Amino acid sequence: MSQYYIEIKDKQIPIQIRNYKNSNRVKLYFRENILHISKPKYFSKKQLLKMLKENEEAIYKEYVSLWKKENTNQKHWYTGEIFYYEGEPYEEKMIHHNKNEVSIRLDKKEKKLLLYLPEDLKEEEKKKLVDSLVKKLLKKNTEAMLEEKLPKWSKKMNLEYQGYKVRDTVSKYGSCVPQTKMLYFSARLKMLTEEQVDSIIVHELAHLVHANHQKPFYDLVKKYIPNYDEIHQELKKNQKRMMI
Ligand SMILES: [Zn+2]
Repeated sequence: MSQYYIEIKDKQIPIQIRNYKNSNRVKLYFRENILHISKPKYFSKKQLLKMLKENEEAIYKEYVSLWKKENTNQKHWYTGEIFYYEGEPYEEKMIHHNKNEVSIRLDKKEKKLLLYLPEDLKEEEKKKLVDSLVKKLLKKNTEAMLEEKLPKWSKKMNLEYQGYKVRDTVSKYGSCVPQTKMLYFSARLKMLTEEQVDSIIVHELAHLVHANHQKPFYDLVKKYIPNYDEIHQELKKNQKRMMI
């Protein structure tokens, strides 16, 4: 099913509409961050848009609060879990040793994420350490990747940015503030494939010229990423698995 959105302020809110023959009222409710709309069949698109416009403030408020809740429920990395790196699944493996040091290593050949921890730590302490080790690794490697990729794309698209920041966000892959020409990226980009990362970079750079997601914006993006729609769908679909 293709996903539709409504734009309210800075948010793109996914919506799903269902028509009912025997219904005579419109219902709006959120489920998993999607605004579900059930309406009588005769209720036109125009009427619906008007109604959404009238309820814009309430919809926005509820969406933001759900969105915040989801962000505080971020995944905490732990042993045995599947960890995505460059789009490939890695198994997380905790290795206890007698030394009093912690370290993290990606075994690309065996597709394992190895976490070395002192044996005598409490479960809670281990959890915290693993979490911070994984996050640090992602941030460091995402920054290194952007350091290389951003100047290349900026040159190719002939668009200059002021700077960029990498933060541990899971709700968004990236964002752009055209007024200050600053770009923001999720520290978890390194979990995605190179093709997906390129599409995110091009998307954010394109916002330097077009603030909204209108046709001229997508025309510019697709000039550089012709299969953008396909990649974007995949990213949307896998956001939970990849990022949280
Ligand atoms: Zn955008």
